[in-house]
Amino acid sequence: MVSVLEPITHPVSLSAHGAPAIARDSFGRAMTYLRISLTDRCNFRCLYCMPAIGMKFQPRAELLTDEELLRVVRLCGEIGFNKLRLTGGEPTIRPNVVELVRAMKTFPGIEELSMTTNALLFGRLAEPLKAAGLDRVNISIDTLDPDRFKLMTRGGRLDLVWEGIEAAERVGLTPIKLNSVVVRDQNDHEVGEMAALTIERPWQVRFLEIMPLEGVGEVHDASLVTSGETLARLEGQFGPLEPVRADAADPARLWRIPGAAGTIGFISPVSVPFCAACNRVRLTADGKLRLCLLRNDEVDLRDMMRQGAGDDALRAQLRAGVWRKPWGHLLADGVRDTVRGMSQIGG
Ligand code: SAM
Ligand code: SF4
Repeated sequence: MVSVLEPITHPVSLSAHGAPAIARDSFGRAMTYLRISLTDRCNFRCLYCMPAIGMKFQPRAELLTDEELLRVVRLCGEIGFNKLRLTGGEPTIRPNVVELVRAMKTFPGIEELSMTTNALLFGRLAEPLKAAGLDRVNISIDTLDPDRFKLMTRGGRLDLVWEGIEAAERVGLTPIKLNSVVVRDQNDHEVGEMAALTIERPWQVRFLEIMPLEGVGEVHDASLVTSGETLARLEGQFGPLEPVRADAADPARLWRIPGAAGTIGFISPVSVPFCAACNRVRLTADGKLRLCLLRNDEVDLRDMMRQGAGDDALRAQLRAGVWRKPWGHLLADGVRDTVRGMSQIGG
Protein backbone atom coordinates (compact mmCIF):
# COMPACT_ATOMS: atom_id res chain seq x y z
CA MET A 1 0.00 0.00 0.00
CA VAL A 2 1.36 3.42 -0.94
CA SER A 3 1.52 5.99 1.84
CA VAL A 4 -0.05 9.29 0.80
CA LEU A 5 2.94 11.20 2.09
CA GLU A 6 5.66 9.13 0.45
CA PRO A 7 6.17 9.89 -3.23
CA ILE A 8 6.37 6.72 -5.36
CA THR A 9 9.09 6.78 -7.96
CA HIS A 10 7.51 6.39 -11.41
CA PRO A 11 4.12 6.85 -13.12
CA VAL A 12 2.14 3.66 -13.67
CA SER A 13 0.03 3.48 -16.83
CA LEU A 14 -1.27 -0.12 -16.87
CA SER A 15 -3.22 -1.94 -14.18
CA ALA A 16 -2.34 -5.52 -13.17
CA HIS A 17 -4.90 -6.69 -15.77
CA GLY A 18 -3.41 -4.68 -18.60
CA ALA A 19 -6.30 -2.17 -18.64
CA PRO A 20 -5.45 1.53 -18.64
CA ALA A 21 -4.86 2.51 -15.03
CA ILE A 22 -6.31 5.53 -13.32
CA ALA A 23 -3.92 8.49 -13.44
CA ARG A 24 -2.20 8.93 -10.08
CA ASP A 25 0.05 11.59 -8.68
CA SER A 26 3.42 10.86 -7.11
CA PHE A 27 1.78 10.65 -3.67
CA GLY A 28 -0.49 7.84 -4.84
CA ARG A 29 -3.64 9.94 -4.99
CA ALA A 30 -5.97 8.80 -7.81
CA MET A 31 -7.24 11.68 -9.96
CA THR A 32 -10.78 10.96 -11.04
CA TYR A 33 -12.42 14.38 -10.94
CA LEU A 34 -11.92 17.06 -13.59
CA ARG A 35 -13.25 20.58 -13.09
CA ILE A 36 -13.53 22.41 -16.38
CA SER A 37 -13.60 26.17 -16.82
CA LEU A 38 -15.78 26.73 -19.89
CA THR A 39 -14.97 30.45 -19.99
CA ASP A 40 -13.13 33.07 -17.96
CA ARG A 41 -16.00 35.52 -18.54
CA CYS A 42 -18.98 36.15 -16.28
CA ASN A 43 -22.24 38.05 -16.07
CA PHE A 44 -21.54 38.95 -12.39
CA ARG A 45 -18.52 40.55 -10.70
CA CYS A 46 -18.61 39.06 -7.21
CA LEU A 47 -16.47 41.09 -4.85
CA TYR A 48 -14.49 38.06 -3.55
CA CYS A 49 -13.88 36.69 -7.07
CA MET A 50 -13.03 39.62 -9.33
CA PRO A 51 -11.40 42.98 -8.60
CA ALA A 52 -13.65 46.07 -8.92
CA ILE A 53 -11.53 47.39 -11.77
CA GLY A 54 -8.81 46.02 -14.02
CA MET A 55 -10.27 42.56 -14.67
CA LYS A 56 -8.76 41.29 -17.92
CA PHE A 57 -10.38 38.57 -20.02
CA GLN A 58 -8.42 36.43 -22.44
CA PRO A 59 -8.82 36.90 -26.21
CA ARG A 60 -11.21 34.26 -27.56
CA ALA A 61 -8.53 32.81 -29.84
CA GLU A 62 -6.62 31.77 -26.72
CA LEU A 63 -9.53 29.74 -25.35
CA LEU A 64 -10.06 26.11 -26.29
CA THR A 65 -12.46 25.57 -29.17
CA ASP A 66 -15.36 23.16 -28.63
CA GLU A 67 -13.46 20.46 -30.55
CA GLU A 68 -10.28 20.93 -28.50
CA LEU A 69 -12.21 20.92 -25.25
CA LEU A 70 -14.13 17.76 -26.10
CA ARG A 71 -10.95 16.04 -27.17
CA VAL A 72 -9.29 16.70 -23.81
CA VAL A 73 -12.37 15.53 -21.92
CA ARG A 74 -12.60 12.33 -23.99
CA LEU A 75 -8.93 11.55 -23.28
CA CYS A 76 -9.43 12.26 -19.57
CA GLY A 77 -12.28 9.73 -19.57
CA GLU A 78 -9.85 7.22 -21.08
CA ILE A 79 -7.32 7.62 -18.26
CA GLY A 80 -9.76 7.18 -15.41
CA PHE A 81 -11.52 10.49 -14.85
CA ASN A 82 -15.16 9.61 -14.17
CA LYS A 83 -16.55 12.81 -12.74
CA LEU A 84 -16.73 16.21 -14.47
CA ARG A 85 -17.83 19.60 -13.19
CA LEU A 86 -18.41 22.52 -15.56
CA THR A 87 -17.55 25.86 -14.04
CA GLY A 88 -15.85 29.13 -14.95
CA GLY A 89 -16.25 32.10 -15.06
CA GLU A 90 -19.92 31.51 -15.63
CA PRO A 91 -20.34 28.24 -17.55
CA THR A 92 -23.84 29.07 -18.82
CA ILE A 93 -22.55 31.94 -20.97
CA ARG A 94 -20.33 29.65 -23.02
CA PRO A 95 -21.90 29.36 -26.47
CA ASN A 96 -23.06 25.77 -27.15
CA VAL A 97 -23.05 24.82 -23.48
CA VAL A 98 -26.00 22.44 -23.97
CA GLU A 99 -24.28 20.70 -26.89
CA LEU A 100 -21.05 20.42 -24.92
CA VAL A 101 -22.91 18.73 -22.07
CA ARG A 102 -24.59 16.33 -24.46
CA ALA A 103 -21.28 15.38 -26.07
CA MET A 104 -19.36 14.97 -22.79
CA LYS A 105 -22.00 12.66 -21.40
CA THR A 106 -21.42 10.20 -24.26
CA PHE A 107 -17.71 9.67 -23.53
CA PRO A 108 -16.78 6.26 -22.13
CA GLY A 109 -15.78 6.49 -18.48
CA ILE A 110 -17.73 9.69 -17.68
CA GLU A 111 -20.23 8.72 -15.00
CA GLU A 112 -21.24 12.05 -13.49
CA LEU A 113 -21.53 15.52 -14.97
CA SER A 114 -22.37 18.50 -12.78
CA MET A 115 -22.08 22.28 -12.94
CA THR A 116 -21.32 25.18 -10.62
CA THR A 117 -23.26 28.25 -11.71
CA ASN A 118 -24.68 31.55 -10.53
CA ALA A 119 -28.00 30.31 -12.05
CA LEU A 120 -28.87 33.71 -13.54
CA LEU A 121 -29.75 31.99 -16.83
CA PHE A 122 -31.14 28.79 -15.34
CA GLY A 123 -34.77 29.85 -15.74
CA ARG A 124 -34.40 28.97 -19.43
CA LEU A 125 -31.36 26.65 -19.37
CA ALA A 126 -32.21 24.17 -16.59
CA GLU A 127 -34.49 22.07 -18.77
CA PRO A 128 -32.30 21.75 -21.89
CA LEU A 129 -29.24 21.09 -19.73
CA LYS A 130 -31.03 18.32 -17.85
CA ALA A 131 -32.28 16.85 -21.13
CA ALA A 132 -28.71 16.93 -22.49
CA GLY A 133 -27.46 14.86 -19.54
CA LEU A 134 -26.43 17.24 -16.78
CA ASP A 135 -26.85 15.40 -13.47
CA ARG A 136 -26.89 18.15 -10.84
CA VAL A 137 -25.85 21.69 -9.96
CA ASN A 138 -24.20 23.74 -7.24
CA ILE A 139 -25.59 27.26 -7.25
CA SER A 140 -23.79 30.23 -5.76
CA ILE A 141 -25.93 32.54 -3.66
CA ASP A 142 -24.45 34.54 -0.81
CA THR A 143 -27.49 36.37 0.55
CA LEU A 144 -31.30 36.38 0.44
CA ASP A 145 -31.47 40.18 0.52
CA PRO A 146 -31.90 41.59 -3.04
CA ASP A 147 -30.01 44.83 -2.30
CA ARG A 148 -27.09 43.07 -0.71
CA PHE A 149 -27.09 40.55 -3.55
CA LYS A 150 -26.78 43.40 -6.02
CA LEU A 151 -23.91 44.79 -4.00
CA MET A 152 -21.99 41.53 -3.55
CA THR A 153 -22.34 40.48 -7.20
CA ARG A 154 -21.92 44.08 -8.40
CA GLY A 155 -25.23 44.20 -10.24
CA GLY A 156 -26.86 40.74 -10.03
CA ARG A 157 -30.60 40.13 -9.67
CA LEU A 158 -31.61 37.83 -6.85
CA ASP A 159 -35.14 37.22 -8.18
CA LEU A 160 -33.76 35.70 -11.40
CA VAL A 161 -31.26 33.56 -9.51
CA TRP A 162 -34.03 32.31 -7.22
CA GLU A 163 -36.09 31.42 -10.32
CA GLY A 164 -33.03 29.57 -11.57
CA ILE A 165 -32.77 27.56 -8.34
CA GLU A 166 -36.45 26.64 -8.54
CA ALA A 167 -36.08 25.62 -12.18
CA ALA A 168 -33.09 23.42 -11.32
CA GLU A 169 -35.08 21.67 -8.61
CA ARG A 170 -38.18 21.31 -10.80
CA VAL A 171 -36.30 19.53 -13.61
CA GLY A 172 -34.46 17.24 -11.17
CA LEU A 173 -30.92 18.68 -11.12
CA THR A 174 -30.74 17.41 -7.57
CA PRO A 175 -29.65 17.28 -4.81
CA ILE A 176 -29.48 21.08 -4.92
CA LYS A 177 -26.36 22.48 -3.28
CA LEU A 178 -26.04 26.20 -2.60
CA ASN A 179 -22.60 27.79 -2.17
CA SER A 180 -22.29 30.86 0.01
CA VAL A 181 -18.97 32.64 0.48
CA VAL A 182 -19.04 34.26 3.93
CA VAL A 183 -17.70 37.82 3.84
CA ARG A 184 -17.28 39.81 7.03
CA ASP A 185 -19.60 42.83 7.30
CA GLN A 186 -21.39 41.80 4.12
CA ASN A 187 -23.33 38.59 4.65
CA ASP A 188 -21.85 37.06 7.83
CA HIS A 189 -24.87 38.18 9.85
CA GLU A 190 -27.13 36.29 7.43
CA VAL A 191 -25.67 32.79 7.70
CA GLY A 192 -28.56 31.75 9.96
CA GLU A 193 -31.10 32.73 7.31
CA MET A 194 -29.20 30.79 4.66
CA ALA A 195 -28.87 27.75 6.94
CA ALA A 196 -32.60 27.91 7.77
CA LEU A 197 -33.35 27.11 4.10
CA THR A 198 -32.39 23.52 4.93
CA ILE A 199 -35.09 23.11 7.58
CA GLU A 200 -37.89 22.56 5.07
CA ARG A 201 -35.90 21.77 1.91
CA PRO A 202 -33.65 18.77 1.19
CA TRP A 203 -30.86 21.10 0.06
CA GLN A 204 -27.26 21.41 1.13
CA VAL A 205 -26.25 24.96 2.04
CA ARG A 206 -22.45 25.22 2.03
CA PHE A 207 -20.46 28.01 3.63
CA LEU A 208 -17.09 28.71 1.96
CA GLU A 209 -14.05 30.49 3.36
CA ILE A 210 -12.68 33.19 1.06
CA MET A 211 -9.46 32.16 -0.64
CA PRO A 212 -6.82 34.78 -1.48
CA LEU A 213 -6.74 34.30 -5.23
CA GLU A 214 -5.34 36.83 -7.68
CA GLY A 215 -7.09 40.21 -7.48
CA VAL A 216 -8.93 39.51 -4.20
CA GLY A 217 -6.07 39.05 -1.71
CA GLU A 218 -7.11 42.20 0.14
CA VAL A 219 -10.74 41.06 0.37
CA HIS A 220 -9.52 37.82 1.92
CA ASP A 221 -7.30 39.66 4.40
CA ALA A 222 -10.01 42.06 5.49
CA SER A 223 -13.06 39.82 5.32
CA LEU A 224 -12.21 36.15 5.93
CA VAL A 225 -14.69 34.46 8.24
CA THR A 226 -13.47 31.00 9.25
CA SER A 227 -15.81 28.02 9.23
CA GLY A 228 -15.28 27.75 13.00
CA GLU A 229 -16.72 31.21 13.45
CA THR A 230 -19.69 30.48 11.16
CA LEU A 231 -20.41 27.19 12.95
CA ALA A 232 -20.34 28.97 16.33
CA ARG A 233 -22.76 31.59 15.04
CA LEU A 234 -25.14 28.91 13.73
CA GLU A 235 -24.99 26.94 16.97
CA GLY A 236 -25.74 30.17 18.84
CA GLN A 237 -28.94 30.40 16.81
CA PHE A 238 -30.04 26.76 16.35
CA GLY A 239 -28.31 24.98 19.24
CA PRO A 240 -25.79 22.15 18.70
CA LEU A 241 -25.73 20.91 15.08
CA GLU A 242 -25.57 17.16 14.41
CA PRO A 243 -22.55 15.90 12.44
CA VAL A 244 -23.41 14.09 9.19
CA ARG A 245 -21.08 11.59 7.54
CA ALA A 246 -19.70 12.93 4.21
CA ASP A 247 -17.99 11.19 1.31
CA ALA A 248 -14.21 11.02 2.00
CA ALA A 249 -13.38 13.00 -1.17
CA ASP A 250 -15.99 15.70 -0.46
CA PRO A 251 -14.24 18.85 0.76
CA ALA A 252 -17.42 19.83 2.65
CA ARG A 253 -17.77 18.76 6.29
CA LEU A 254 -21.47 18.26 6.91
CA TRP A 255 -23.86 19.09 9.74
CA ARG A 256 -27.60 19.19 10.22
CA ILE A 257 -29.94 21.36 12.23
CA PRO A 258 -31.74 18.71 14.33
CA GLY A 259 -34.85 17.58 12.45
CA ALA A 260 -33.97 19.51 9.24
CA ALA A 261 -34.65 18.08 5.77
CA GLY A 262 -31.30 19.23 4.37
CA THR A 263 -27.70 19.63 5.50
CA ILE A 264 -25.17 22.38 6.11
CA GLY A 265 -21.65 22.09 4.68
CA PHE A 266 -18.43 23.88 5.54
CA ILE A 267 -15.70 24.23 2.94
CA SER A 268 -12.63 25.42 4.78
CA PRO A 269 -9.61 25.54 2.45
CA VAL A 270 -7.93 28.16 4.64
CA SER A 271 -8.51 26.87 8.19
CA VAL A 272 -8.77 23.09 7.49
CA PRO A 273 -7.02 22.25 4.18
CA PHE A 274 -8.36 19.05 2.58
CA CYS A 275 -5.34 18.35 0.37
CA ALA A 276 -4.81 14.77 1.65
CA ALA A 277 -8.08 13.62 0.07
CA CYS A 278 -7.69 15.65 -3.12
CA ASN A 279 -8.82 13.75 -6.22
CA ARG A 280 -9.18 16.64 -8.63
CA VAL A 281 -7.37 18.70 -11.23
CA ARG A 282 -8.68 21.57 -13.32
CA LEU A 283 -8.77 22.39 -17.01
CA THR A 284 -8.56 26.14 -17.59
CA ALA A 285 -10.54 27.76 -20.41
CA ASP A 286 -7.24 28.36 -22.24
CA GLY A 287 -6.31 24.70 -22.17
CA LYS A 288 -3.92 24.22 -19.26
CA LEU A 289 -4.21 21.38 -16.81
CA ARG A 290 -4.08 23.20 -13.48
CA LEU A 291 -2.81 20.80 -10.86
CA CYS A 292 -3.84 22.60 -7.66
CA LEU A 293 -6.25 25.51 -7.23
CA LEU A 294 -3.80 27.50 -5.14
CA ARG A 295 -0.51 26.65 -6.90
CA ASN A 296 0.68 27.87 -10.26
CA ASP A 297 1.84 24.53 -11.65
CA GLU A 298 0.12 24.03 -14.99
CA VAL A 299 0.59 21.70 -17.94
CA ASP A 300 -0.04 22.87 -21.48
CA LEU A 301 -2.49 20.95 -23.64
CA ARG A 302 -3.75 23.65 -26.04
CA ASP A 303 -0.49 24.44 -27.77
CA MET A 304 0.35 20.74 -28.04
CA MET A 305 -2.97 20.15 -29.79
CA ARG A 306 -2.47 23.15 -32.06
CA GLN A 307 0.96 21.81 -33.00
CA GLY A 308 -0.61 18.54 -34.11
CA ALA A 309 -0.03 16.22 -31.13
CA GLY A 310 -1.73 12.83 -31.41
CA ASP A 311 -3.95 11.20 -28.78
CA ASP A 312 -1.13 9.04 -27.37
CA ALA A 313 1.08 12.09 -26.79
CA LEU A 314 -1.80 13.97 -25.15
CA ARG A 315 -2.69 11.06 -22.87
CA ALA A 316 0.97 10.84 -21.86
CA GLN A 317 1.03 14.57 -21.17
CA LEU A 318 -2.11 14.29 -19.02
CA ARG A 319 -0.61 11.41 -17.01
CA ALA A 320 2.71 13.19 -16.60
CA GLY A 321 0.88 16.32 -15.48
CA VAL A 322 -1.19 14.48 -12.89
CA TRP A 323 2.00 12.78 -11.70
CA ARG A 324 3.56 16.08 -10.77
CA LYS A 325 0.58 17.47 -8.90
CA PRO A 326 1.94 19.25 -5.82
CA TRP A 327 0.94 17.91 -2.42
CA GLY A 328 -1.15 20.97 -1.56
CA HIS A 329 -1.28 24.68 -1.01
CA LEU A 330 1.06 26.66 1.20
CA LEU A 331 -1.27 29.32 2.59
CA ALA A 332 -0.35 28.38 6.16
CA ASP A 333 3.29 29.29 5.32
CA GLY A 334 2.19 32.63 3.92
CA VAL A 335 2.77 31.56 0.30
CA ARG A 336 0.21 32.98 -2.13
CA ASP A 337 1.11 31.25 -5.31
CA THR A 338 -1.51 32.90 -7.51
CA VAL A 339 -1.25 34.63 -10.85
CA ARG A 340 -4.78 33.75 -11.90
CA GLY A 341 -8.11 34.62 -10.32
CA MET A 342 -10.79 32.10 -9.37
CA SER A 343 -12.89 32.84 -12.46
CA GLN A 344 -9.90 32.10 -14.71
CA ILE A 345 -9.02 28.79 -13.10
CA GLY A 346 -12.40 27.13 -12.75
CA GLY A 347 -13.23 27.31 -9.07
N1 SAM B 1 -19.80 31.51 -11.81
C1 SAM B 1 -20.07 30.27 -11.18
C2 SAM B 1 -20.53 30.46 -9.76
O1 SAM B 1 -20.34 31.54 -9.22
O2 SAM B 1 -21.05 29.50 -9.21
C3 SAM B 1 -18.91 29.28 -11.24
C4 SAM B 1 -17.53 29.81 -11.04
S1 SAM B 1 -17.19 30.42 -9.42
C5 SAM B 1 -15.50 30.88 -9.58
C6 SAM B 1 -17.14 28.90 -8.49
C7 SAM B 1 -17.28 29.04 -7.00
O3 SAM B 1 -16.15 29.69 -6.50
C8 SAM B 1 -18.49 29.84 -6.56
O4 SAM B 1 -19.24 29.10 -5.63
C9 SAM B 1 -17.89 31.06 -5.90
O5 SAM B 1 -18.68 31.51 -4.84
C10 SAM B 1 -16.55 30.52 -5.44
N2 SAM B 1 -15.53 31.55 -5.26
C11 SAM B 1 -15.18 32.55 -6.09
N3 SAM B 1 -14.16 33.27 -5.59
C12 SAM B 1 -13.85 32.70 -4.41
C13 SAM B 1 -12.86 32.98 -3.42
N4 SAM B 1 -11.98 33.99 -3.53
N5 SAM B 1 -12.81 32.16 -2.33
C14 SAM B 1 -13.68 31.13 -2.19
N6 SAM B 1 -14.61 30.82 -3.09
C15 SAM B 1 -14.71 31.60 -4.19
FE1 SF4 C 1 -18.85 35.18 -11.71
FE2 SF4 C 1 -18.98 33.00 -10.19
FE3 SF4 C 1 -16.91 34.71 -9.95
FE4 SF4 C 1 -19.31 35.48 -9.13
S1 SF4 C 1 -18.09 33.77 -8.30
S2 SF4 C 1 -17.88 36.69 -10.41
S3 SF4 C 1 -20.64 34.47 -10.54
S4 SF4 C 1 -17.36 33.49 -11.70
